[in-house]
Amino acid sequence: MHRIVFLGPPGAGKGTQAARLARELGIPHLSTGDLLRAAVAARTPLGLEADRFMRAGELVPDELVLRILGDRLGQPDARAGFLLDGFPRNLSQAETLDRTTKLDVAVSFDLPDRELVRRLSDRRVCPTCQTVYNLSSNPPKVAGRCDRDGTELVQRPDDRPEAVANRLKVYAAQTAPLLDYYRRHGLLRPVDADGTLDAVAARVRSAVG
Ligand SMILES: [Zn+2]
Repeated sequence: MHRIVFLGPPGAGKGTQAARLARELGIPHLSTGDLLRAAVAARTPLGLEADRFMRAGELVPDELVLRILGDRLGQPDARAGFLLDGFPRNLSQAETLDRTTKLDVAVSFDLPDRELVRRLSDRRVCPTCQTVYNLSSNPPKVAGRCDRDGTELVQRPDDRPEAVANRLKVYAAQTAPLLDYYRRHGLLRPVDADGTLDAVAARVRSAVG
């Protein structure tokens, strides 16, 4: 069984590695956003309930997210396991998750703040087609212009250095107790997230066993 949770700060490359590992292991890659959108689109009773919160601009309560997740984990493609990306985000969600399913491993992506700030500060996005670029690792062909439509790229306010420092502070405050929790349960596998996609993927692969 591969019942996996990925934990990592914004900018650590967690989403890319999650998609890759899930494909390799043949298990579903589940992020909360996708999970909720799928339940809403399928018009399941829980999806409709979640939709009411989302339409009101409110956060979907953890209990409801967990019930939707429980439904999803009961589907045939999740029999060999699953990869949760970006959930749980805090200790209370982790404890609730424990009542829904057992886990085999929690992989945490470790990267120095300085490197995270650099990566996030290098992010640029096309306001027309939403394509995301990175000035150092994935630059556009023509400086400052989207490859697909030539629109001038912009930096999201969220990716400015001051905002990034704050996002990382919030993340650290929420996640430290979560890391402790999984460490105490013997599930935590820290992975050095610095390096090429392939190098990090190999470390992740050996961390999940
Ligand atoms: Zn574009």
